[in-house]
Amino acid sequence: MARILFENASKRYPNGFVALENLNLEIKDKEFVVLLGPSGCGKSTTLNMIAGLEEVSEGNLFFDDETVNFTPPHHRDVAMVFQSYALYPHKTVYENIAFGLVMRKHPKDDIDRRVRDAAQRLEITHLLDRRPSQLSGGQRQRVALGRAMVRKPAVFLMDEPLSNLDAALRISMRAEIKELHRSMQTTFVYVTHDQAEALTLADRIVVMRNGLVQQIGTPDEIYEHPANTFVASFLGSPPINYLDGELVVEGDKVTFVRGETRLDFAPERGKKLLGQSGRKVKLGIRAEDVDERSEPSSGEVIAGAVTSVLPVGSDQFLGLQVEGEELFFRINKDLRHNYGDKIKLSANTGRLHVFDADTEASLI
Ligand code: ATP
Repeated sequence: MARILFENASKRYPNGFVALENLNLEIKDKEFVVLLGPSGCGKSTTLNMIAGLEEVSEGNLFFDDETVNFTPPHHRDVAMVFQSYALYPHKTVYENIAFGLVMRKHPKDDIDRRVRDAAQRLEITHLLDRRPSQLSGGQRQRVALGRAMVRKPAVFLMDEPLSNLDAALRISMRAEIKELHRSMQTTFVYVTHDQAEALTLADRIVVMRNGLVQQIGTPDEIYEHPANTFVASFLGSPPINYLDGELVVEGDKVTFVRGETRLDFAPERGKKLLGQSGRKVKLGIRAEDVDERSEPSSGEVIAGAVTSVLPVGSDQFLGLQVEGEELFFRINKDLRHNYGDKIKLSANTGRLHVFDADTEASLI
């Protein structure tokens, strides 16, 4: 069992800087939780607190029902994989993987079995006699994973473990890490600033900013129902578009109005906005939530002049000047447009987002 619970936990560094404020987070046994946010938001600090590498300044940290605020790292049954891999350069791959077990005085044959089993699962058996300097980045990464795996920890901690790898390898290693989680049946806490990585790996994502949690939820919840514009902007590529404007409510129809642009919210989306006529809002439209039809109906038209056309394999990114703002959409690559063309797209009004113009909190 390894349930992790932060209760009103804060971290103040000796220089007085508060890196984490009042964190309340329960990570369930066997869950894969990703801490996501921009550089400096407090992700690594949170992970290091779980590892015991940083003390909790205020509040509590529990493993199952026990407080571990003052438990030293080696009594926590956690294993950590760092971005830098932290391999011993003079030891072989075998010795690197075995090191933690040797330190804990495991029997030799048990160590051998675990090292070979991990090496086989990570497909690095043929590298066991090499030293780290004779390995590629991806191979070093696997050794670092192997070293954590053989410990069979109750909690697996990973701090940007894929950030030194090239794009293709990063994607294949994501699949391996997901498989590792499935086969190890252990709690995983994973730090990244890469939203795509978070969306593929996590059971739940914790989005952080300036030491404060912005939202906790499944990838779907966070993507489909972002709590505020920060979360909405952080997930999605190209990022979500915004238009400032006003709500107009007539009967049970809720419309976003900005200049010539009038978008009627689909009923299920609009019902929370009834009674908000005149409210200043920021409309959010994700790049993929449009399509091109010959005759878009009146309450869904986004019209503008093409400012850029960027093919990206099966799709294209289209820049469009709408109400004086440049918005970016993702549409089928077979639709041909040129710079300056005046076109009309249909917004998927069941997927519009709307935020308060001042607080930037979601209104739906
Ligand atoms: P990155 O992705 O860049 O690693 P992060 O989200 O993991 O960022 P942290 O490493 O947790 O961020 O740091 C959070 C904040 O705390 C940062 O502003 C950082 O400068 C600050 N910080 C980290 N360690 C210390 C320290 N020992 N003393 C003072 N401030 C620190």
